[in-house]
This record gives sequence, structure tokens and C-alpha cells, in this order.
Amino acid sequence: MTLLLRHLILTGLLFGVWLAPLQAQTTGAETTYAVRFPEPEHHWMEVEVTFRELGETPLRARMSRASPGRYAVHEFAKNIFSLEARNGAGEVLPTQRVDADEWMVARHDGTVRLTYRIFGDHVDGTYMAVDSTHAHLNMPAAFLWGVGLDARPIRVTFHPPAGSDWNGAATQLLPTADPWTFTAPNLQYFLDSPVELARLVVSEFQLDSPSGGSRTFRVAVHANSSQADVDSLAELVERVAREQTAVFGALPAFEPGYYTFLLDYVPWADGDGMEHRNSTVITNPSISLATDGGRRAALDTISHELFHVWNVERIRPADLEPFDFTRGNVSCCLWLAEGFTQYYGPLLLHRAGLTNAVPLGPAIPVITGSGRRVRSAVEMSQHATFSDAGISNDAHDRSRSFISYYTFGAAIALGLDLTIREQTSGRLSLDDYMRRLWQGYGAVAPPAPGVVARPYTLTDLRVELGGLLGNQAFADDFFARFIEGRDVVDYGRLLALAGYHLEPVRPGRGWPGDIALSEGGEGLVVGGQAGTLVAFGSPAYAAGLDSGDRIVSIDNAPATRSAWEALRQAAPGSRHTLVVERRDGRRVTTTLTLADDPAVRIVPIESRRPLTDTERAFREAWLGSRR
Ligand SMILES: [Zn+2]
Repeated sequence: MTLLLRHLILTGLLFGVWLAPLQAQTTGAETTYAVRFPEPEHHWMEVEVTFRELGETPLRARMSRASPGRYAVHEFAKNIFSLEARNGAGEVLPTQRVDADEWMVARHDGTVRLTYRIFGDHVDGTYMAVDSTHAHLNMPAAFLWGVGLDARPIRVTFHPPAGSDWNGAATQLLPTADPWTFTAPNLQYFLDSPVELARLVVSEFQLDSPSGGSRTFRVAVHANSSQADVDSLAELVERVAREQTAVFGALPAFEPGYYTFLLDYVPWADGDGMEHRNSTVITNPSISLATDGGRRAALDTISHELFHVWNVERIRPADLEPFDFTRGNVSCCLWLAEGFTQYYGPLLLHRAGLTNAVPLGPAIPVITGSGRRVRSAVEMSQHATFSDAGISNDAHDRSRSFISYYTFGAAIALGLDLTIREQTSGRLSLDDYMRRLWQGYGAVAPPAPGVVARPYTLTDLRVELGGLLGNQAFADDFFARFIEGRDVVDYGRLLALAGYHLEPVRPGRGWPGDIALSEGGEGLVVGGQAGTLVAFGSPAYAAGLDSGDRIVSIDNAPATRSAWEALRQAAPGSRHTLVVERRDGRRVTTTLTLADDPAVRIVPIESRRPLTDTERAFREAWLGSRR
């Protein structure tokens, strides 16, 4: 089937399914964008946006400062230049810069046509990039929008560079009969709909939803790849999608009529993956689809992003819905939205027979991490604005006070999955929890495309766990200790059920704390060249050492790296005298009391003895295919 034919068929479907209910919601005239690339080699594009039926109200046009899925504040407006406004008669109007991100146009005739140029050369899931090979557009990074005009429908037409080899657009924007023109029912949907214009190689597959009907997936690749390579990748993606669908028991209906993978595997990309409602952008500079190994290397990110179709795009935290594009969005629940996705991505590759790796790793940094002493999983989630692409010019303490909510959440998912299996003798698992969240929240029919009808709160998550297990007291305790509190589940006992052994790496050995040291002048500079902070709860912290101090002597001998390393051979509980010079040259004497080395590792029990039948059955139920 040709692309154009598909568009015509889908357009027909869309008129039937979506336009009728949408028109009732539409308020005001369509906002139209025309996008041109006169000099793509110089990494800018020209946008002409027309706002109509504005009445007497001055137009406030602004750039976003946030983009769903990457929670830092981004100053997208910095890349705009040569902005100009005209009225409906084509006369130039004065523009007023009322804010760093906002322009105001008054005394218009009800129509304002803004033109601007915008620079971008950053290929990832958050920003935009233009060059002769492609336009890679994350919408908040690229398009000004009208304040208060959120409900208006949007139409965008792309004009590829003259003579370019761009053969189409990959996007979740709604198609029209013109392959370069798309629509969005409202601003939220428009800003959630990235676009890749390039010489694309596209492969499609269909999947039946257990809930009824068939869904189409489009794998659209911008890379130096053949049709056969992309077809082979699509076959692997289909296996992943089947395994994921089995968790939830249903595939959502995708508003454009299909789900699109926008895969940009160009050597100048940054590695990234970004979820959207009906699509994902995945960028990677080192993936080659020419070999089976290369295609399998692509699946980690693909599996993660595809799981977001359910978890975060439709099973969505209430504090992210609707998304506020003007500021950092803080969520209680990225430990579930990202962390559980981080757990399921590799787990479902395992179930699909596409990897042997078992997602046990995140437990270790959560067991030993200093950050857990000062922040819960909920608080780590609330820190996303500062950590996920967040930029600060001043010193920060993330090395000791932060554990990524991806890692923390994946460890909670592992602990909760094993706990539910244990508590119900294998009758239920985390899959049933996810399916319950899907049925109670994600599957509720949206009132308009891009809108989540029933987003969840932290309380909802707790109540649903209680409902699943028929034991609210258990759920309340689990949340109080492991999600809102700073305890860690008993991984040793739980992992043993599946035949994995959690054990100390250096049993019986002393531990002064894992601190960065550099040799400088007389002694050892704490924090090393980077000024890394000393972790909370470590013996070195208790002894009063931190970044900028210099250890002059250890047990009355000169402080050398080998003298420090020798402490690791001493007994836990042994006491050592340190002379430490502060930044101002004053010297203090302190006592370092060694602790047990907290480092742990997870080993499969079959490296020591054969698995028991019970362990094998537990592991098979957990890691085996559900299809
Ligand atoms: Zn994610």
C-alpha cells in the first residue's frame, strides 16, 4: 500500500471517528503553521504562523519552557531570531517583548501573521535539529503558540528544501490528503507530536489487541539503512510489542490510526528516547541496523519507550495532566512512570526471548545509595526538574543526595513484583497491578485526542495495590516504608525465591567510605579533582571529612593512597587516627571508625548449586513469556 493511499484511507477513518466529537469542542479559528527550510545547511528554519479571529485582544505569542518527558526547564525561546508580525492586510505590526519567552502584538485587525526563524542542531528527544538530511522537530522547541488559544485546532504544512531527498514525514500528527500537511485537534496534542522529515525508510506491522481490533505500528527510520534492515528491525519490534500487550491485555486505540517509531540513527545524534502519546522519538549515534546485533542493540530503548504507550501516556500522573508548557512540571510518581518502565523494558525483552539479561541491577544502588538516607522515591521524582537535563552553574550535591527515580523505581518494581508473587503464591504479580491501573485509569476513553480522562494520584496507586491484594494494610505499609519512606525491601529474601543470592562483595572487611581522593601536596585531597562530596552515613562522613579537606596523616604515618587502601584490609570496628587540614590551613585530629563494607552483588544460585524445582518454577513464571 502506498503512503498516499494509506493517508486517504486514514483520513476517512478520522472523519468518522474523531472529527465529529472534536468540532463540538473547537473554540475559534484554526491556527495554521507553514514551515520552510530555505538554507537547511545553516541549521535554521522559517516558521509562519497565522492566528485568526483574535477580536480586539492583543496576541500573546510564546515559546514553551518545558517539554513532556524531560522535566527540566528549557529556554527554547533563545533560538528565535528575525521575528516579524503582520496583520491580515499584510501590514507590519510592532511587537513587544513582554517576557523572555513571550511577544505581544496589539492593534491588529483580528489576524496576526508571525514569521520567525529558529536555530537548532541538537538531535535528541527534547530539542530540534535542521540540516540538509532532515528536520528533526520536538514541537515545544520549535513552535510559538498563542496564549489562551489552546483549544483551537492546528494545521501545519511543511515545505521541504528544494531538491532535497526528503520523502515524507513521520509523526503522530493527524494526516490529511496532502502528505506534507497535518492537523492537531488542540495545542496539547500538537506540542506532543514530534516530526521527522527526511529520506525515511518505513516498515509497518499489525498487531491484534486482545481487547478487540487490530493496531498498526510504523517503524520510520532516518539512517543509512536498507528496506530489508528496517523490515528485520520491525519483526523484532513486533515480538516486543506482543509481549508488552500481554501484560496489559489490550492495546490502546492510536488517534492517527497508527503508532509511529521515529528512529533517528545518524552519527551526529545524541543518545535519547522520548515517549509521546502515539509515537516515540529515539536517537542514537552508534546504532547500525545492518546487522542482527545492531538491530538487537536498538531494542533496549524501543522496549522502554513502547511500554510508555500504557505507562505514563495513558496511565498518567494527575500532576502531569494537562502538561504545563510554561514551567517545570513536578510529579509525585516518576518512580512508577519511569522506574516501572525501566524495570519492564528489559524484563519484557527477556520474556520475548530477545535477551538473557535479568533486570536485577537497580536493587544494588538503592540498597547502598547515600541518597536514600535523605530522600524517598517520591522526593526523587519531585527532584526531576533539577536532575533530568537540569543545569546549574553552582555546585550541587546529587552525588550523595540523589538516586535516579529510574533506578529507584525499577528497584521498587522488582521488590514489589517478587513480593506480590510471594504473598499470593504466584497467583498474582506486578503484571496484574499494571493491568489494574490500565483498566481503572489508562483505558478510560479520552474526551478528545491527547487528553487523559482519568489520571491517577499517589493515593490512587496505594489504594489500587490494596485492592489488588485484598489487603489495604499491606499496601499502606509498603507505600509508607518503601515509596514515601526511606526503607528498602528485603531483596535478599525475595531474590532467593527466584534462585538469586544477594551477598557481600567483601565480607568481614573494613570500610572507610567510598570517597574520591587525589594526591596533592602533602597528603590526600578529599573529593578529588571534581570535588565529589563524601556520602551520608559513611565512616568518613562521621569522621568529619568532606570535599576540600586534606588528609595529612593516617595513624601517625603520612597519608598516601596505599595507606588509605590499607584501611580496607583492617577489621570493621577498628579505629584510626587522622590529621586533617581544613581549607583555611587549620589542622584537626579525628577518629575514623571502620564499618562493614556495604558493597553487595547478586549471583545466580546455580553458580553454587543446582536450582531447586521451586526456584525454577518461580523464575520461569517471572521471566517466561506470557503470550
Ligand atoms: Zn522513560
